[in-house]
Amino acid sequence: MRVQIEHLYKSFEESKAAVHDFNLRAEDGEFVTMLGPSGCGKSTTMLMIAGIHEVSKGSIYFDDDLMNYVHPKDRNIGMVFQNPALYPNMNVLQNISFPLRNLKVPKKEAEQRAKDAAEIVQMSDFLKRKPRQLSGGQQQRVALARALVKRPRLLLLDEPLSSLDARLRMSLREEIRRIQKSLGITTIMVTHDQEEAMSMSDRIAVMNNGVLQQFGTPDELYNNPVNWFVAQFLGMPAMNRLECHWERPGCSIHVAGTPDVLTLPAELAVSGNIVANQRLLLGFRPHQAKLASNGKGGAKPSLGAKISMIEFTGREKLLHLVAGEQEIKMYADLSDAVSEGDEVRLEVAHFRYLFDAESEQNLM
Ligand code: ATP
Repeated sequence: MRVQIEHLYKSFEESKAAVHDFNLRAEDGEFVTMLGPSGCGKSTTMLMIAGIHEVSKGSIYFDDDLMNYVHPKDRNIGMVFQNPALYPNMNVLQNISFPLRNLKVPKKEAEQRAKDAAEIVQMSDFLKRKPRQLSGGQQQRVALARALVKRPRLLLLDEPLSSLDARLRMSLREEIRRIQKSLGITTIMVTHDQEEAMSMSDRIAVMNNGVLQQFGTPDELYNNPVNWFVAQFLGMPAMNRLECHWERPGCSIHVAGTPDVLTLPAELAVSGNIVANQRLLLGFRPHQAKLASNGKGGAKPSLGAKISMIEFTGREKLLHLVAGEQEIKMYADLSDAVSEGDEVRLEVAHFRYLFDAESEQNLM
């Protein structure tokens, strides 16, 4: 089933719009995630899709049917929340089959469907257990089976993994994605975890302050962010941000608070449509910089910086540096002889992201 959201607004009394002119289209069988920081309006949007919150303005369609005034129980949606909220006195089988009771499905059929759903989430060996006898991850699988047992046409996942530890989160991520694909069920997830969104979704809607910033594939968002907010929200550690300005026509930009000048590739300088003295934000990811050979600065323009901290990540070292007053993170090889307090020079090996400092829009 296709979900189409058009010019959606939500205002709670006396507060500014929690959701402002939100548009999104999830195709049949697609896994779409709403991603953003706390308070950006993603849960409010999801609750409007579920029918739990009324829509202030705009439309929600399931295929060609307007859903705005359809009761939540008539929307045929399965939902999974952060807290699995299982009934403590019921065993796994009873918990999973519970939604079918309300639908008056005959007992035998309900039991068979619950067993099938348990099989899908690989909980067939635990049917007789009570929730307290299950791990957090197992409880969340039961919650997923309970959401799927009605054979809903849409699955809504509201931070389904955030109460689990890191290892469990990783394995359940893969599993939810596998199940979603095999069932071909249209799914909308809400999360603030960019890694989770990137690894599970076909497309991601990045939100901030109730406003959709960009809707695209993980690859599009990561490589072609429309603005600084999207750029810094995806990728860990976050993209570096160097405040610079463009002094004269050409390819040189001055890095604020330092004597250093970096050179943009000519095509970037031209396509960026930059004017004299324009203040810019140069973005580069931590793996897109390297230490200049022998630390002295080679033929290429480089930036002087001081190492304030070194973190060992296992495969490499993550350097925290300060250039002028600007903080930078970059990776160095384990074999690189660097220590905290060292003055080094770094080269930006890959120029790709340039933003206007005022509007924070991507200039590329
Ligand atoms: P989180 O990740 O913290 O759940 P979120 O992105 O899901 O955040 P929402 O819960 O959708 O954000 O909230 C968006 C805005 O709407 C916030 O400013 C919040 O304070 C406000 N809001 C949410 N629910 C209500 C409500 N019932 N009454 C008034 N304001 C609300």
